[in-house]
Amino acid sequence: MTLAHFLDGLRCASCRALNALWLDALRGLVECSECGQTALAFPEIGEEVR
Ligand SMILES: [Zn+2]
Repeated sequence: MTLAHFLDGLRCASCRALNALWLDALRGLVECSECGQTALAFPEIGEEVR
């Protein structure tokens, strides 16, 4: 089991990279692997990161 999950179908709000976002379950953050942008990951994750 891994704590990092790539988020399919989500686009980075900062650099517009598609499928570059992954969920860091340890820190409760979503991070973009392209530009390093992070956002808080809450249940409404699809609303926060688009
Ligand atoms: Zn990005």
